[in-house]
Amino acid sequence: MKSPFHVMIIPTLGCPSKCHYCWSSDERSPVMSIKTVREIAEWLKDYQSNQVTITFHGGEPLLAGADFYRQALPTLSEGLAHLEPTFALQSNLWLLTPEMARIFAEYNIPIGSSIDGPEEINDTQRGKGYYQKTMRGYEIAKANGLEVRFICTFTCRSVEGKEEIFNFFLENGFPLKLHPALPSLRSEDPKEWALEPEAYGELLVYLLDKYLENLSKIEVMNINDLCRCIFTRHGTVCTFVDCMGTTLAFGPDGSIYPCYRFVGMPEYAMGNVYDRPTAEDLAQSDAWKLMHAFKEFVDRECAGCPHIKYCRGGCPYNAITPTDGEIQGVDPHCIAYKRIFDEITNRLNEEMFGSGDTEMEEFGSPLQRTAKPGIMAILRAMATK
Ligand code: SF4
Ligand code: SF4
Repeated sequence: MKSPFHVMIIPTLGCPSKCHYCWSSDERSPVMSIKTVREIAEWLKDYQSNQVTITFHGGEPLLAGADFYRQALPTLSEGLAHLEPTFALQSNLWLLTPEMARIFAEYNIPIGSSIDGPEEINDTQRGKGYYQKTMRGYEIAKANGLEVRFICTFTCRSVEGKEEIFNFFLENGFPLKLHPALPSLRSEDPKEWALEPEAYGELLVYLLDKYLENLSKIEVMNINDLCRCIFTRHGTVCTFVDCMGTTLAFGPDGSIYPCYRFVGMPEYAMGNVYDRPTAEDLAQSDAWKLMHAFKEFVDRECAGCPHIKYCRGGCPYNAITPTDGEIQGVDPHCIAYKRIFDEITNRLNEEMFGSGDTEMEEFGSPLQRTAKPGIMAILRAMATK
């Protein structure tokens, strides 16, 4: 079976918001032209044969405007019809208009947006007025039948309010997907907002427990993914697979990068669609070689780790950009991954083979059955969704 291919199009790195912990937007960034979208479609058509998912990401992709999407979406969906493209959008929704929402609805585009919890916590770290502007866009999206899910970035400050944040998602009926704030590559104080790996690991364990207490009322996407990884012994999100070769990103000028996170860092560009590089040409680039060198490094460095099969050293971007492209270690979040992978594995083993007090009605002796849900309950809940 062919694996799906993920393409990210970054129409601009510009963004109208100024989230305190964000260091990836760039006010001087150009906006992608439709000519570049046509070049991308032409180039991808021969480069790929797998089913493709195309996500518009940023910066803020809605800055490109309604006209951009009115032309880009048919160009990509007709030009790449043999790859059965599906689309997605990652946006703060501030600039969403009913006109744009109707265009996205025509292509069934699910939207990932960002809210870091209740208004006060959110606006403290994303800037005053952010919450209201995103919620206005959310209402427009909903009114036009679009599906919206929120990513919640936890910083070293907001993690103090983790209960309030969890309850906010629970009470609003939003699934929770979290993202740890990363150290800034630009700031004088890179760790000002970053969530330290140890704190990230503890947060994941906390959310596992909160999820189990509220299993019928909320989905915590990261916990689902982590349980699925362990159960299938295979990574199910990009962080936990060898992502190189399964994803590509295009910057506003048509530059090709291994992933959207590298866009705007020319040293990681592998080529440009206007030059029509072949797969062999991309493989000659420094960025490609670096990503493959990371994979080999992980094979050596993580060889003794019981989680290597479904962790794969984490995200290469997290590992190599803080050291200016030198591979000096695996993803610094390793500590968090180990913490939560160990926790889930131990609980699962206890449920399956131990004499624990978690429910086992489908998988073990009725003698082991109690009312407390465990990891198997999460797996069952996922299977029914
Ligand atoms: S570099 Fe990191 S974020 Fe990008 S695709 Fe790979 S794992 Fe995902
Ligand atoms: S948990 Fe850490 S040591 Fe284990 S595979 Fe992941 S990055 Fe490597």
